[in-house]
Amino acid sequence: MMQNQTETWTNTAEALQLLARQRKVWPALQAGCEALSKVKVKLIRIDGLTVKVQYNPARSVSSCAKTDAQFLRERPCFLCPAHLPPQQEGLPMGQNYLLLCNPYPIFPEHFTIASRTHTPQHIYPCFADLLKTARHLSGLSIFYNGPQSGASAPDHLHFQAVTGLYMPIDEEAELHKTAIWLEKEEGAIYLLGGYLRNGFILESETEQGACSLFFHLYKTLRAHVEGDTEPRMNIFCRYSETKGWVVIIIPRKAHRPRQFYATGSEQILVSPGAADMGGVFVTTREEDFQKITPTLLQDIYAQLAFGNELLSVVSDH
Ligand SMILES: [Zn+2]
Repeated sequence: MMQNQTETWTNTAEALQLLARQRKVWPALQAGCEALSKVKVKLIRIDGLTVKVQYNPARSVSSCAKTDAQFLRERPCFLCPAHLPPQQEGLPMGQNYLLLCNPYPIFPEHFTIASRTHTPQHIYPCFADLLKTARHLSGLSIFYNGPQSGASAPDHLHFQAVTGLYMPIDEEAELHKTAIWLEKEEGAIYLLGGYLRNGFILESETEQGACSLFFHLYKTLRAHVEGDTEPRMNIFCRYSETKGWVVIIIPRKAHRPRQFYATGSEQILVSPGAADMGGVFVTTREEDFQKITPTLLQDIYAQLAFGNELLSVVSDH
């Protein structure tokens, strides 16, 4: 007779214990956490919105990461279980994922939830896993970087879980819900507007409902560039007993702004992913950190995401 396999999911308290334990035995993680505690942050305000600009030189490994296919094939993948540092301990997130501490944190608590197998970053088949992760890691904010929208390992499926309410979007999104885009018995999708990087807010109390709403949106998204494996987007997900799931989807126009490719004083080396779209904007060179102004941030967000023209990104539904 088949035995009923119970899946083991790590919860928030266990994840925080892992972080405390790993800091004691893994010098690179301890150094990363200490470096983060000393990073410079400046607050920029634009039309009542807050962006925390971070000068975090340790992140240059990620923001300048090459993600072309040949480079990815030839490098040892840092999320594959076989290549993890010997001190790194992983905790189970269901049968298919491991929760790992990120040694180059942007947040005081910064975890990677990596697939146990080397499989490409693709949200459609694993959206339910993202929801389950958020439910078990209630209190943390879970996010997803699309393969062309900020993921530094687009060839290895992963989510990230970070300190809740640290990204301005965690609280600002609710205040910028403008209209209902889709309403069904199982929940609704609202428009996120007036937000420099507009998008959609999905709310549902059931996993099935959230999946069905998301799949509906996914299929109507036009932000699909030739050669891409999915519409470009960043996703934020939080779960609470009272509200169920709140999922924010920010469609992307581009991965990097033109300033990344500029030369001389015009150049700004940023590779914005979900954290940056969530309002924690990471720079890795002091000169870039100094250069960021409200006008420049507005320009960068307008290149990466949609403003008032958001609805051009979806077909009729
Ligand atoms: Zn891998």
